Amino acid sequence: MMYVVGVDLGGRRLPRGCGADGEVLFSEQIPTLNRDGGDAILRATAALVGRLMRRAAGAGIDVVRVGVGSAGVIDAVNGEVVSATDAILGWAGTGLTAGLAQLLGLPRGSVSAVNDVHAHALGEAWRGAAAGSSSSLMVAFGTGVGGSFVLDGAPVLGHHYVGGHVGHFASPYAYHEGKALPCVCGGSGHVEAIASGPAIHESFVRFGGSPRSRTLVRCLPWCTTEIVPIRPTVRPPSKPSGRRGCCGQAIGGLVNILDPETVVVSGVWRMREIFGGNPWNVPCARSSWPRLPTFPCFARR
Ligand SMILES: [Zn+2]
Repeated sequence: MMYVVGVDLGGRRLPRGCGADGEVLFSEQIPTLNRDGGDAILRATAALVGRLMRRAAGAGIDVVRVGVGSAGVIDAVNGEVVSATDAILGWAGTGLTAGLAQLLGLPRGSVSAVNDVHAHALGEAWRGAAAGSSSSLMVAFGTGVGGSFVLDGAPVLGHHYVGGHVGHFASPYAYHEGKALPCVCGGSGHVEAIASGPAIHESFVRFGGSPRSRTLVRCLPWCTTEIVPIRPTVRPPSKPSGRRGCCGQAIGGLVNILDPETVVVSGVWRMREIFGGNPWNVPCARSSWPRLPTFPCFARR
């Protein structure tokens, strides 16, 4: 049995666990130190990974590898952070795997890293909602909007490691009074400009909600995964809502391009409760190829 430490390095929290064959044996969580720069994040990460390795050793378990799923664009071959947003200051340019290996005293090749959404999709394809599928598309809605296409057990990273940036897919729904909504990437009219958590709150305020109101924010839990059937024969309403229309349209367009066996939608902020019914079915069906057979694409877990 091979034991590894897995690290989920996000903008705010840094949970990591030690396990084998998908089972988590030990886990801990610390703040990411996202204001302190790359070196501080690496040192904190190495300290916690070291603690987990010592706990494992105390139980007679020998950890042989460390895997990191990190926010930002990650060069998965060289283990470097190509770029990152201000959510983690000073993270861009960090030699992630080389730095961790050096701090932990491990061989360079025993530490690997990939973007966190690609890691999430890989986990869903390995042991999660897409297990057993030869191809799967995972789209995650949260503070941002991301995605990853996994083919034959490997995420398609793209030539510049930015494959799966669903959030920056052009959307006809990301407009208000004829003007494209600005996106955090510097562009406009993108999925993330209307479908991310902060974008939903901005929309709430734009339509008269109080910026200090927690009414909508309370409806935004970040960690749900739902799977629902796509039914291309369902008749669309005349005016689908902007947010659910945007999500479904983006997913439907990607289904047309990639034709995945399974689609996993993650972090969906209880859209059923906000909008009622299944939020993606109709707009997704509108955007999908009309002859696409009904297939069990999504499920709840
Ligand atoms: Zn964008």
